[in-house]
Amino acid sequence: MPEKRPRKSSTARDDQPAAPATPANEAAARSPLGDDDITAPPSDAELAELAHFDPGPLRKFDALICDIDGCLVPESSEPFDAGALRRIADHNRAAIKEGTLPVLTLCSGRPQPFVEAVCRLVGNTLLPCIAENGVWLYFPATNEYLRDPSITRDHLQAVREASDWVEAELFPKGFSIQPGKTASVSLFHPDPDHLAPAMPMIEAAFNKHGWPLRVSKTWYYINCDLEHISKATGLDWLIAAAGLNPDRLAGFGDTASDLAIAERVKLFACPPRHDEQIAKVAHHISPYWQAWAVLDVLERVLVE
Ligand SMILES: [Mg+2]
Repeated sequence: MPEKRPRKSSTARDDQPAAPATPANEAAARSPLGDDDITAPPSDAELAELAHFDPGPLRKFDALICDIDGCLVPESSEPFDAGALRRIADHNRAAIKEGTLPVLTLCSGRPQPFVEAVCRLVGNTLLPCIAENGVWLYFPATNEYLRDPSITRDHLQAVREASDWVEAELFPKGFSIQPGKTASVSLFHPDPDHLAPAMPMIEAAFNKHGWPLRVSKTWYYINCDLEHISKATGLDWLIAAAGLNPDRLAGFGDTASDLAIAERVKLFACPPRHDEQIAKVAHHISPYWQAWAVLDVLERVLVE
């Protein structure tokens, strides 16, 4: 196992809200959970028991913070492995109900609606999820979605202007913009080999126009994110808002932006397909694919 990395402290900025209070859910309390009710929320009593994440005798990790694309599901348009995701939902339901297993939550660059859908699919009714590379925290316990309050109208105007530039200059070259993002721009090209060569031109245009956007790449997208927003700021916000202890966190990711997860958790794992710099910091490289890899980490690696 690689040498332990230095810890980073995780503190929310003063302007980042804490987690909303858990709502009363009388309907859930009246209706016992059935085995197939994977989306049924925990009762008030169950939520109260878990509110402070008291470690159970079997639980060394309270949460697994997991990237979505290339980890839980393919980054391409390949179908989700619904069977594996169902198993993770079963795991999460038991973890939230019993308090003796880590709860899986999400840290993704995808737009908030995509992340919310996957959050509900994997049965996370408790812990906030990060969407759009730190722009949003989604709180499944209350259905609230909060945008990082440091994002100003000027930032949003810069994103709009950059989007217009992309449409004028790069759409004719075969690029398109991933729908649904609100304070960033993600570019897609049907031939991924066109992504890396376009990045210098994009960075030069952003610099020329003074748009404060950082340019990075995943397997199939160029991500243009506000310079002061990242998975790192989202993670610090999530950890502080949910009152999590980084020494009791695990992480799972596959590309460079997930280094922010690795820097904030005790144990970090990755799937078989991963960036080189991810392999250097991973304590565990799974031999399995998609959500089966995540499930293996949740139910085997984290309890050994
Ligand atoms: Mg990924």
